[in-house]
Amino acid sequence: MSLRVSNLRLPVGEPEANLPAHLARALGVLPTDLGGWRVVRKALDLRDKRELRFVYNFEVEAPAAAPRADPAVHVESVTEPPFAMPDPGPAPLPHRPVVVGSGPGGLVCAYFLALHGYRPVVLERGTKVNDRIRDVRTFDEGGVFHPESNYLFGEGGAGTFSDGKLTCRGSGPDVMRVLELFAECKGQQPGRPNILYYHRPHLGSNRLPAVVKAIRRKIEELGGEVRFLTRVEDVRVDAAGLAGVATSSGFVAASAVVLAPGHSARDTYAMLAARGVPMSPKAFQFGVRVEHPQAVVNEVQFGPRHGHYESLLGNADYSLVAHGKNDLFTFCMCAGGHVIPSVSQEGFFCTNGMSLSKRDSPYANSGLVVTVPVEEFGAADVLAGVRLQEQYERKAFELGRGEYRSPVQRARDFVRGRPTTGAVKSSYPRGVLIADLRDVLPPVVAEAVRHGLPQMDRRWQGRFLPDAVLVGPEARGSSPVRIDRDSETRESPGVPGLYPVGEGAGFAGGIVSAAVDGLRTARALIAKYARPTA
Ligand SMILES: Cc1cc2nc3c(=O)[nH]c(=O)nc-3n(C[C@H](O)[C@H](O)[C@H](O)COP(=O)(O)OP(=O)(O)OC[C@H]3O[C@@H](n4cnc5c(N)ncnc54)[C@H](O)[C@@H]3O)c2cc1C
Repeated sequence: MSLRVSNLRLPVGEPEANLPAHLARALGVLPTDLGGWRVVRKALDLRDKRELRFVYNFEVEAPAAAPRADPAVHVESVTEPPFAMPDPGPAPLPHRPVVVGSGPGGLVCAYFLALHGYRPVVLERGTKVNDRIRDVRTFDEGGVFHPESNYLFGEGGAGTFSDGKLTCRGSGPDVMRVLELFAECKGQQPGRPNILYYHRPHLGSNRLPAVVKAIRRKIEELGGEVRFLTRVEDVRVDAAGLAGVATSSGFVAASAVVLAPGHSARDTYAMLAARGVPMSPKAFQFGVRVEHPQAVVNEVQFGPRHGHYESLLGNADYSLVAHGKNDLFTFCMCAGGHVIPSVSQEGFFCTNGMSLSKRDSPYANSGLVVTVPVEEFGAADVLAGVRLQEQYERKAFELGRGEYRSPVQRARDFVRGRPTTGAVKSSYPRGVLIADLRDVLPPVVAEAVRHGLPQMDRRWQGRFLPDAVLVGPEARGSSPVRIDRDSETRESPGVPGLYPVGEGAGFAGGIVSAAVDGLRTARALIAKYARPTA
């Protein structure tokens, strides 16, 4: 039996080598009486600025006698089921399973299918990650936009140039298995927090391409295949059911298709809607990026000894909520990061954020978003939310003079409804232009931002607004569409054999949750079918 020991609080400077001694003292036993133990969570507690602490949770093999010594520490017995995959189902797949999209959802699904001998074929519209790095850099530096190789499309999906925060609301063996896969693929990062238990694990955009490449190589070594510059353009169904997919490079026969296109493949959504694949409109997050000098964030979060804590912990992050008719909340905060052009379609503009593993830019940025309810979409059809995004993204493109410059406004001016004057500094790489950001936000979002910003400023004792710059819009906080699926079988109710997965299908919001969704779909597919015969 294992014990879960939680709430052991230690100063942030305490060396991890001393953990066994602290753990034994908290349990009232000698260090030599401790059996196996491991950290399962390590979180930073910023509440007492005089002495910041890490709060540790452990899993410990029950010591022989444990009269608990520290009353602040909670001890309970735990029995968690181990990670498991099913035996293959009875009916063999007539064709190799096809996975559409190589983002975290598709890639991790393909990895587990490959691991169990199903030799998946991954179809990815974009390029290999090395070519993608070149195309993204060219765009950042003011060069041309590549519609199939950008921040959203290409090997690794949106995950490749994401910030690489591996946070996930869920927990349990599937989440741990995905984190173990990422940890195995990320290479050495001496001195970095352990992603298996740190409460805000972060890889950084510079580390992600290697992870993506390593997972792809594993898929290939296990008999799978990844085809790049292969865009799925149609789903073919005949009298016998799902027949395969038509792609930009020809037809691929398949009776099981995992559909993980992410939330920016608007042409794919349109194709699915035209084919009558059951889908529903879904509330989604829309807002702006808010950017501060990182030094301000460090002072607010770390307090008077911020210099000391910066040297121990690096740059600080934050998370805030402002309540109102529609809540405003920060999302995907990038400490020491950059605002980027999160563009996947020519003629449309949208921002997002990322940081490198060192998180060492002088700027901090965060999404500042509102959940837009379906009733605000202005129409009831399944693609109404997509059109709402496009309406404001097109306007933002025009305000940026068709050059993918970003509209910006000082946050204080936005709240007061007055124009910004003078130069505005931002990490956004292609240049910024002063604008009235109300022009690029649906009224429900603009109102929640105007109402919520002063609340956030009060939470920071007047330090949030003075230096804050709004950069945007950030129109794609999540998917405006759900591709329906059966909760048991994970298949589309209209097209058996079609398995919608990940963020674009509306079942995930982030790298780890999309990857876990992919893993669970691989499990469902394995349980139903035996390995392919062809
Ligand atoms: C800049 C940025 C920063 C982010 N930061 C974080 C973060 O720090 N932490 C976090 O958890 N999440 C972050 N996210 C969100 C995260 O990246 C996504 O939630 C995640 O990548 C979704 O995974 P997915 O597999 O569902 O879709 P995606 O990653 O979007 O992958 C979809 C893939 O499908 C391909 N595709 C689309 N249509 C087709 C088609 N018709 N045929 C073939 N291929 C197709 C695309 O090219 C793409 O490669 C960030 C996102 C962005 C854009």
